[in-house]
Amino acid sequence: IIVGMSHTNPTTQWSPRFPQILLLGGSGQLGFELKRTLAPIGQVHAPSRSEVDLSDQDRLVRCIRNLQPVAIVNAAAYTAVDQAEREPQQADALNHLLPKLLAEEAERMHALLIHYSTFFLNDAATTEIYTESQPTNPLNQYGLSKRAGERAIADACSRHLILRTSWVVGAYGHNFMRTILRLAASRSALNVVGDQVGAPTSAPLIADTTAQILRQYLNAYGKYGSSAESEHSQQTEFPFGLYHLTAGGATDWHALATHIIQFAHESGRQFMLKPDSIQRITTAEYPTPARRPQNSLLNTTRLQKHFNLQLPDWQEGINYLLKIGL
Ligand code: NDP
Repeated sequence: IIVGMSHTNPTTQWSPRFPQILLLGGSGQLGFELKRTLAPIGQVHAPSRSEVDLSDQDRLVRCIRNLQPVAIVNAAAYTAVDQAEREPQQADALNHLLPKLLAEEAERMHALLIHYSTFFLNDAATTEIYTESQPTNPLNQYGLSKRAGERAIADACSRHLILRTSWVVGAYGHNFMRTILRLAASRSALNVVGDQVGAPTSAPLIADTTAQILRQYLNAYGKYGSSAESEHSQQTEFPFGLYHLTAGGATDWHALATHIIQFAHESGRQFMLKPDSIQRITTAEYPTPARRPQNSLLNTTRLQKHFNLQLPDWQEGINYLLKIGL
């Protein structure tokens, strides 16, 4: 039904008996995990960049209208935080204008839009853990573009879930854990910033949680129709809106690097880098083009309460990824 799109679940033919789910950004570190966790729920369509370049709005709109998905899951983003300082327009196109378009299309057909956002909206002027209702004040272009995306979705789409997360680590793609393991093979010493606090969150945790919430939505709204059926089905109160979704606990980059290398050594991997050769430095000693908040912690009480979920501490997700990746 959709020209030029691959199905991630080849065993299921297109059929109205399966909820159609459009996943954007399926090749990213979160998208990779979402392909796995969404597959049992419905038929996942995850076009690659060569199939649908997301800067081509006409093609994207055609794709959405042909598919009529019950849910659009947007894991695509411009995520090069430092580069965004030089390319604010490119960041805005992916992080603001794309979600705006998705929100308008989702609204047109009464579909659910699930979108991911970031702790980079906060300036961390306080040491408290941010709730969803606190005012935002992004310190960099990436954060500004993501905030504009959040606002556009809230304005245009009644059935939206914005999931703000932090310090995403996956088995694939670019992330801190993989960088540390790569450097550990060739370096005997490493300096790592130790005065930025956050909660490393595994891509599998975000993807599993997304799938659980999507199941709850489909139970409430009926599985198949994002348009006709849902208008006739019994409407239940569903807690749409903005949520924080991170692992529990807190650490800093230096402590996280030390944890990773310690775990690797205890698992029998011989790296040149030893845990006590990782030096703690300050943000001021490691200047980057984009300013970063010193406190990235997000309060997740709202999500856990509304969806009856428990989020484990960060070590659980990181240790799992280390076990499968080392
Ligand atoms: P990645 O950078 O790993 O993946 C981004 C995805 O977007 C890739 O699939 C990429 O495709 C796709 N993409 C980018 N530009 C285009 C384009 N023009 N056309 C088609 N596809 C495009 O991101 P993450 O998985 O790390 O992030 C997922 C979400 O989580 C994002 O919303 C991000 O803002 C948010 N987030 C991430 C954090 C982190 O630490 N990584 C922290 C907090 C929030 P391709 O593979 O072809 O480049």
